[in-house]
Amino acid sequence: MPIFEYACQDCGQQFETLVRSGTVAECPSCHSTELEKLLSVFATQGSTSDAAPLPAVGPCGTCGHPAGPGSCAVH
Ligand SMILES: [Zn+2]
Repeated sequence: MPIFEYACQDCGQQFETLVRSGTVAECPSCHSTELEKLLSVFATQGSTSDAAPLPAVGPCGTCGHPAGPGSCAVH
């Protein structure tokens, strides 16, 4: 189950929460649903920058990284 990190647009609270399909995350402090979704801990792994997009060529044959060959070069 994915964990996402959010920043509340109303009170500025940052928090991580499990997001089940069909549910909407809300701020644990003020219960606002005006949230900015931050990068999840999973999305940031193995990637230091998105400034150099790679062609979509499928999973890396070396490590299976879904973003394709080159994504695992930072290992
Ligand atoms: Zn809030």
